[in-house]
Amino acid sequence: MELLKEFDVECVRADNPGPFTLDGSNCWLIGRDPCWIIDPGPPIDAHLDRLAGEAKVRGGAGGIAITHDHADHSGGLEGLLARLGDVPVGAAEIEVAGVTLTDGDQFGPLSVYATPGHAPDHLAFVSGPVIFTGDAVLGRGSVYISPDPGALAGYLAALDRLIALDLKLLCPGHGPALDDPRARLIEYRDHRLERERMLLEALESGLRSSDELLDAAWGDVPPILRPAAEATLAAHIDKLADEGLLPEGAQRPAIGDYGGL
Ligand SMILES: [Zn+2]
Repeated sequence: MELLKEFDVECVRADNPGPFTLDGSNCWLIGRDPCWIIDPGPPIDAHLDRLAGEAKVRGGAGGIAITHDHADHSGGLEGLLARLGDVPVGAAEIEVAGVTLTDGDQFGPLSVYATPGHAPDHLAFVSGPVIFTGDAVLGRGSVYISPDPGALAGYLAALDRLIALDLKLLCPGHGPALDDPRARLIEYRDHRLERERMLLEALESGLRSSDELLDAAWGDVPPILRPAAEATLAAHIDKLADEGLLPEGAQRPAIGDYGGL
């Protein structure tokens, strides 16, 4: 894609494909002398060799920013630091990160945007017209929302803030880079609102058990992603409860292990 060259952005994709990671985790480099890295990716030696190699070609790394603490994005941090030496690490809530990032911070060329939803500590990074969205917005498909208190309302508010930005290139945690960030961000917001509309419709028709609600509002989701849809249903139910819109007896799914990636 031409825009990657124009903004001096490059993707190093890890070889960890799967239902949550799509073709693999995307790790991004921007700029040079030094470059900045967004997400180390998973702890796969060949991947970390490539990422560190690209950083060296670009005159070394000025810093490593982490979108969120899931293994497919942050698990390779130690290995990357072993290859790059003493590089500042910025993240929301990772112990080894020397720089604790919160909304509104600047980390090198990266402006920090809190984007809770997929994970409570999730961050997106903006550099000029380029946004690195981690798992808040993917290049393909949708993401699950982790049902932490206020997660879905926080997610929708974050999307609204990003929609208002003047962006030209969206670099996601998985899937291809996209050249119309605003359209994608609006699509993601509308997708969540459409699920909410379908859920409300199911509740209005009298459905109450979490299985019935899932079938009615997430019936298109393939079986392997159903536990993730279940987590997202819980986040939707929490939002309706917070807003006083949840009818008596609606069942919030018990959240087990839904992937965590
Ligand atoms: Zn991920």
